[in-house]
Amino acid sequence: MLILMGLNSPREHINQVKEKIISLGCTPHEIPGDSKLAIGITGPSDKVVKEDFLLMPSVEEVVRVSKKYKLVSREMKSEDTLINVNGNIIGGEELLIIAGPCSVESRDQIFDIAGQLKEMGIKFLRAGAYKPRSSPYAFQGLKEKGLEYLADVKKELGMNIVTEALNQNTIEAVCNVADVIQLGARNMQNFTLIEEIGKTQKPILLKRGMSATVEELLLSAEYIVSQNNYNVILCERGIRTFETATRNTLDLNAIPVIKKNSHLPIIVDPSHGVGIWDKIPAMAMASIASGADGLIVEVHPNPEKAFSDGFQSLNPSTFKSLIAKLQELAPVVNKKLTLN
Ligand code: PEP
Ligand code: MN
Repeated sequence: MLILMGLNSPREHINQVKEKIISLGCTPHEIPGDSKLAIGITGPSDKVVKEDFLLMPSVEEVVRVSKKYKLVSREMKSEDTLINVNGNIIGGEELLIIAGPCSVESRDQIFDIAGQLKEMGIKFLRAGAYKPRSSPYAFQGLKEKGLEYLADVKKELGMNIVTEALNQNTIEAVCNVADVIQLGARNMQNFTLIEEIGKTQKPILLKRGMSATVEELLLSAEYIVSQNNYNVILCERGIRTFETATRNTLDLNAIPVIKKNSHLPIIVDPSHGVGIWDKIPAMAMASIASGADGLIVEVHPNPEKAFSDGFQSLNPSTFKSLIAKLQELAPVVNKKLTLN
């Protein structure tokens, strides 16, 4: 349920509405927006009687939200959510491009690629310090050392860092370095971890689980937003299907579906979605054409030598041609890509 009140409603009236919601055993959420003052109600809705609220001063409208997810839905908040990361606005006209290697491998490797990306005008560097790997024998990341190198890159090159928190023990260390915390596909339904990360109030890149439906992705985002953290960037990264020609099946259907049903920004990871480097530029372009707010792309200075995901990593020159093409495409879908 959603209570809409006049923008200039007295605080006293707003508090009366919130107190009534609490007295019914539900939780009130003041939803950011600039056209109306909106208070979302979550919790057992059977006791909430629409007419009781309509009688209260300053209440203009009471709307029933039909979806299972509430706070992340467009029904609750019709305006797009814009996320400000150090002055970069995500979810608006400007495309978000996050690029970098799958993993931090050494100080030299991360400084090499970060320097090249910065030169191209990329402002967000991705690289995992803690890596969730399918095999226990595969490279698991440089862990704390990797975070240290990322902190140095941030200090020396001023890039925004996107890196994954794998479990509760890594949240604090990751939080100290990351500008955006990545929550990986394998953890999308690790609800206690999601809640903990949500509480940090940091921007979160929430990747879709490889077997998760769009509704499940949005319900996971709801766990974060219900911690009053609206800084959630959704990410489509491919799902498991019967198709084996590519690593995953990039579900671009999800983009217009999510855009219609949620106010949160959504970006696409064509690298994990496709898994084969030479198919990635085409799917990156298709992602932006389908209305995504940006991309996260694996770029390695020397893909043949990568410790993880080398086969799906672009080299710097292929990536550079891709961003030039994206710059041409952006205005066609009312977006822009500023590289400087
Ligand atoms: C990654 O970004 O390197 C990664 C492990 O992604 P995902 O969680 O989508 O598999
Ligand atoms: Mn990877």
